[in-house]
Amino acid sequence: MYAKLDDRKTCAFRDAREQETEIYESTQTNTYKSATANTLIKLKRRAPITDSTSPVIGTENTIRKRLEEAERSQSTTLTRSNLKKYIPTPAQLQEYGYVVDIPNTLGGSEPSAVGQMKDCSRCNQKYIVEDGDLLKDDCKFHDGKAITTKVDGRRSRIMSCCSTQMGSSGCCTGPHVFLEKDAESLNKRAGFIRTPLRSDSLDVVALDCEMSFTTSGMSLTRLTVVNSDAEVILDELIKPHSKIIDANTRFSGVTIKQIEESAVFDLVGIRSVLFEIGVGSDTIIVGHGLENDLNALRIVHSNILDTAILYPHPAGLPFRNSLRNLAADVLKKFIQDAAPSSGTVVATHSSLEDASTTLDFLFESCYYSPELLSSDKVALVKNLIVENDPSLDTLLETLPRFNHLNSITLSPTLATLIFEDPALDSTMALQKACPSLRQVTFAGDQVFKIVNQPSGIEFFKTKISDCNDVNLCSSCDCSPNRYQPKLMLRKRRTLRVAY
Ligand SMILES: [Zn+2]
Ligand SMILES: [Zn+2]
Ligand SMILES: [Zn+2]
Repeated sequence: MYAKLDDRKTCAFRDAREQETEIYESTQTNTYKSATANTLIKLKRRAPITDSTSPVIGTENTIRKRLEEAERSQSTTLTRSNLKKYIPTPAQLQEYGYVVDIPNTLGGSEPSAVGQMKDCSRCNQKYIVEDGDLLKDDCKFHDGKAITTKVDGRRSRIMSCCSTQMGSSGCCTGPHVFLEKDAESLNKRAGFIRTPLRSDSLDVVALDCEMSFTTSGMSLTRLTVVNSDAEVILDELIKPHSKIIDANTRFSGVTIKQIEESAVFDLVGIRSVLFEIGVGSDTIIVGHGLENDLNALRIVHSNILDTAILYPHPAGLPFRNSLRNLAADVLKKFIQDAAPSSGTVVATHSSLEDASTTLDFLFESCYYSPELLSSDKVALVKNLIVENDPSLDTLLETLPRFNHLNSITLSPTLATLIFEDPALDSTMALQKACPSLRQVTFAGDQVFKIVNQPSGIEFFKTKISDCNDVNLCSSCDCSPNRYQPKLMLRKRRTLRVAY
């Protein structure tokens, strides 16, 4: 067996003895003989060994462990190559509010808004931005969100902070604040730059920022970056150039005092550090609602994986799933846990937790890769996403091997073919090929449910976009403030495949 190895004698002697020990330790006197015979048969069946890198050198246990290890690292390593296919197109990025080009205003030409008239982002009143007193409290606002609840069977919109009706006068007071979102204005406060090309850039990082209200809008006050093993590689407080009006401490966990005492870098400084630690234009940056973070950093970057885009809200934009809800539903991980604070309940927020959580989603979604279509593991797959347009026959051929398939997502072409067929032949065929199938989604917004009835197969259509009032819709239950796990396609046990 080892004839082609340079040190064949030593290797053969060592492995033979180790193999014997393995058998001896795993058997009793009465099973030793048959175990040895079995092992001998396996040894004879091994693939020929051509050189010392062959995967079939060693004892049976060594080889098994080596295979398991290879499989694990294949399926769970986040690399550029196995994540590239999930990167959104520039058009998608733009739709989600990403800045995809350096804006054509003069970068940093108007760093501060002091003296300018602005609309307060909390109370909507117009006010003049001042450099002065932090203790000002002429703004009355709610620091919670409007949520829909049922009171005596009737739906009503109340504020999460104080449970009063939406539109009631604010329960908190503080200074007026403003924020700018359009690329041109942001660029005037501080200029955007592109991530530089680096030859030794990291494959994947996850990133989360905290922002504070300043006299130039929202400014970066903390940056946390983790590598693909979720180890912190950068976590710094950042000193904004303009005066901090409100550090947003309840949500960011960052206080003005902390920034004043321990922030070393300013925006330009922290960006250089970010690039120095290996973030380049090729690096895939992972995050949730990452456009806010990148805008705070004033970085134009296109290799993005945003869990808000990967897991779109069933009602479509402008609604987005919160990271907290997504993590609970998809990962069964409970983050930003509600902590009681001054009588009200708020979601606390840690940039480290957020950043590493977004990575967890990717481990989930890249676990089942297209190569697995030909392996036995498809039996575990619950959701199948068909990314291209195979013929119905090709699809039907592979389906019987998916023993636990619940849902399948098809291209519009294939779905139309199946569901516009008045004879229901294709539906029956689909059902027959995969009896566990319960839901067929098509084009991302239309859900078909396949129901087994005694009278035969029926299917129902719900089209989410048919709802006029997205806020209060009883037909499809798509209120943006109530989260619909049933319409969410779970990435867990999900296989994306192009036939
Ligand atoms: Zn309130
Ligand atoms: Zn205000
Ligand atoms: Zn965050």
